[in-house]
Amino acid sequence: MKICRVLVLSLAALHCLPAAREALAARLSFERPMMGTSVEVILWGSDPEPSAKAVDRAYAEIKRIEEQLSVWRRESKVSEINRSAGEKPVQVPAELFELIRESIRISRASDGAFDITVQGLGDLWDFRSPVFRVPDAEAVRARLNLIDYRKIRLQQEISTVFLEKSGMQISLGGIAKGYAVDRTVEVLRESGIKGGIVSAGGDLLAFGKREDGGAWKVGVRNPRDPSKNICVIPVSNLAVATSGDYERYRMAGGRRYHHIIDPRTGYPSRGCMSVTVVAEHALEADALATAVFVLGPEEGRALLEKFPDVEGIIVDGDGKVTASSGLTGTTEPSAEEKPDRSELHQKHNELLIE
Ligand code: ADP
Ligand code: MG
Repeated sequence: MKICRVLVLSLAALHCLPAAREALAARLSFERPMMGTSVEVILWGSDPEPSAKAVDRAYAEIKRIEEQLSVWRRESKVSEINRSAGEKPVQVPAELFELIRESIRISRASDGAFDITVQGLGDLWDFRSPVFRVPDAEAVRARLNLIDYRKIRLQQEISTVFLEKSGMQISLGGIAKGYAVDRTVEVLRESGIKGGIVSAGGDLLAFGKREDGGAWKVGVRNPRDPSKNICVIPVSNLAVATSGDYERYRMAGGRRYHHIIDPRTGYPSRGCMSVTVVAEHALEADALATAVFVLGPEEGRALLEKFPDVEGIIVDGDGKVTASSGLTGTTEPSAEEKPDRSELHQKHNELLIE
């Protein structure tokens, strides 16, 4: 594990804090490859040893969640649900039941744009394989009838999940990272950590205050130029998640094929280059970023406006940037070049410090 310790407070800042001890806080950063991405934790504390222990607990929690939710592990409950499609309901732990229920809530709100049953397309879209092939249109069409969140049957009293049609599959890929980030922050808080940031490949939650009492600043990446930000959002006790067509994609015949699928067509959705959502919880930010991305700029913005405490920034298919009503005016104008003092390099978003 990479640990770098940076003393961040100047003497002048000592006067701003209630206790001198806190002012001696050092910023600690950690990074581990997990959940198919890099999970970074930044926190500050006056004592690095208990902080490192808290971070170990936090990473253990992510590992646990990853194992529970993986569609690649045969023994996971999600795999069991998929294997039992069309045959029988599967009893699942309360945690998984709640996550699937949350997914369905977002599906309903987004009129099916977010749908965990897109996994029914199976390996037709395989962005991990070294050889990428655009699937046969007929093969995609043949599996469209397996994509329908309304055919996930939940029974609360006995905590069971049943996929009604044989061949149906679910994957929590569009919501799991956000959930893991929320849980990680809970674990850190329970361990006495007062403030910090957890980021899973750009889906992040900033909790507590920055050590100087200010808000964190998250730079939203230009989807076509990783060296530039389109704007900077101040966040404190808020989550930020981005879905983009530049994260996992392949080019074929001059077209970009990426991993966010429009459940109506079975093909990568075309209306946006990236969507960044700001919400109280990372789970909601993660899932809504995917949903808005699929809906496209107009319907996507309308969805954001339905949630009073959720905001977002949409980069449409032509690169035009729009912000939801609550963010208009609060984001800083685009920083043409990323400033040298940026401290956290991520796939989509970048954390900046003054
Ligand atoms: P990332 O994981 O790169 O942050 P997203 O949060 O948008 O990107 O999630 C993409 C993942 O979600 C895909 O890899 C796939 O597992 C799943 N997914 C793709 N399309 C949808 C969709 N329309 N609804 C729900 N999940 C989706
Ligand atoms: Mg996401």
